[in-house]
Amino acid sequence: MSISQTALTIGIDVGGTKVLAGVVDSQGQIIFRVRKDTPKNGGPELVQVISEIVNEINQDPKFAGQIKGVGLSWAGLISSDRSTIIDSPNISNCTNFPIGKLISEKVNLPVIVENDASAALWAEFKFGAAKDFNPVMFFIIGTGMGGGLIVDGNLHRGYSGAGAEFGHMIVQKDGQLCGCGTKGCIEQYASGSALLRMARELIQERPAQSANLLQRVENKPENLTGNILTTAARENDEIALAAFKRQADWLGLAMASYTLILDPQAIIIGGGVVDAGDLLIKPAAEAMVKYMPFGKDRNIPKVLAAKFGNDAGLVGAANLARD
Ligand SMILES: [Zn+2]
Repeated sequence: MSISQTALTIGIDVGGTKVLAGVVDSQGQIIFRVRKDTPKNGGPELVQVISEIVNEINQDPKFAGQIKGVGLSWAGLISSDRSTIIDSPNISNCTNFPIGKLISEKVNLPVIVENDASAALWAEFKFGAAKDFNPVMFFIIGTGMGGGLIVDGNLHRGYSGAGAEFGHMIVQKDGQLCGCGTKGCIEQYASGSALLRMARELIQERPAQSANLLQRVENKPENLTGNILTTAARENDEIALAAFKRQADWLGLAMASYTLILDPQAIIIGGGVVDAGDLLIKPAAEAMVKYMPFGKDRNIPKVLAAKFGNDAGLVGAANLARD
């Protein structure tokens, strides 16, 4: 059931350390914000925190009667009926947790929960870089790597809700151990944390070329951060550029494989790596073409940077709560 154009919804980005809520209109504009800490015990305490946020907004005279639904953006596996958290690696006590129903009972509004990458893609699809593409794939790359897919205007969730987890395709037999419990997932080669690991490997492999980069971290490779590496690469540091090249090559390889399964019209790349801009996205697109099966005869999907920053999950979840 769709709600009226003038109605408002609340989007809530639920993370491991903070809960970011916003009142969002039908055009994706955030008109009011609230921020609280995520309780360490997660589970029922988190239900309480989120319900309090919603009730406070709902009882605010300036929103009287206008809030019609709540959407949660959550890092984890979510049931395809958008109600239950199946698995949540960053938040305690939320395994097989019927969060939608529990919050709905306390706030008297419909509540849906969506995987954070899917929610972010939805924001891009409605208001940003993914608009008008079909199918459109999404990689959200920060510390880890999430995925989303929209086909014919609908998010693909799969049978159980685990659909479009693009970060966990295995690209290396017996490769790097991944947080999901298996080995060799693309997340371990194309995420932000993989980029830092590869930079440290390059420092070991090429000590003669590493002086400049080591100087930036007081000779401690463990001090490397994404920002330091990005700045170094922009200033043409050889090791930093080589690390980005490795990451881009892996990402391009994975994208090439996915294009043959999904034949997307466009691939959107979002998350923290967007700050690195053309250090990653352009070389990844070039690597995709290099690895593309049946390359010369096929349509090459557009590869574009996401438009939304950190608000993507919140805005997407709020919009998903409208129908
Ligand atoms: Zn994995």
